[in-house]
Amino acid sequence: MYIDFHTHIFPDRIAARAVAKLEGVSGARACTDGTLGGLKASMEKNGIGLSVILPVVTKPEQFDSVQQFAQKVTEEEKGILSFGGVHPLSPRWREEIGRIADSGLKGMKIHPDYQDVYVDDIRLIRCVDYAMERGLTVVLHAGVDIGYPDMLRCTPQRAARLLEAVDCQAGSLVFAHIGGHGLWDDVERYLVGRPVYLDTAHSLDQISREQLLRIIRSHSAERILWATDSPWADQGVFKDYLEGLPLTERQRALISHENALRLLSGVKAEKVLEYKEAQ
Ligand SMILES: [Zn+2]
Repeated sequence: MYIDFHTHIFPDRIAARAVAKLEGVSGARACTDGTLGGLKASMEKNGIGLSVILPVVTKPEQFDSVQQFAQKVTEEEKGILSFGGVHPLSPRWREEIGRIADSGLKGMKIHPDYQDVYVDDIRLIRCVDYAMERGLTVVLHAGVDIGYPDMLRCTPQRAARLLEAVDCQAGSLVFAHIGGHGLWDDVERYLVGRPVYLDTAHSLDQISREQLLRIIRSHSAERILWATDSPWADQGVFKDYLEGLPLTERQRALISHENALRLLSGVKAEKVLEYKEAQ
């Protein structure tokens, strides 16, 4: 089974505009049209059981509409589960994190580059701390965002400072892009072996195979989450990539879905799409 722990979709009426804008700043090509329908078609084609959507609240006043959309797709769509999103500079950050937890969503996303706040800034740290206290999983964008390569507000070194300030054992913290897109030597220096999860979004095919295997082995397959960053990477390509790595079946099962199920504890079996084995 495959659970994609890091995907993005946009509401239908703005998807075309949002995807075109992001393609423009990043130079990347989207692999779907950026809609819920596009993601579901990709899941069907590639046999993905569940996709976790990570919305980014780029302005504090977007909280309500993002929260509404997240709850709606999570309630209505089989195979889809959305996290919430909070802007660390929102004056209502505490109340908003409480609302995410009370609504039953399993986690929330923070993107230091889009939200103009460093990962070791006290205003971000207090959000992570409170979210974990409320039992939420927090996914943090980490490393270079190809749309905004000069920003770099979550380096592995700064991320390690956040870890000094929060009690990681109390909750679950995920650093996206194998801990820091494009900064994988520093990931090995500062994050590998720490009690955090690393997702593989938009990175599996960009890191060297040798370094990836070294990180998986020294950090432990128990704390790696298979993820694509769809539409910015193709679910089929990333699935084939994991299948092709020289891992044990146990390691592959942990990375492809077992770690995700542990983090999403309480997710109902009927929420996950099932596929018949091809004959
Ligand atoms: Zn992403």
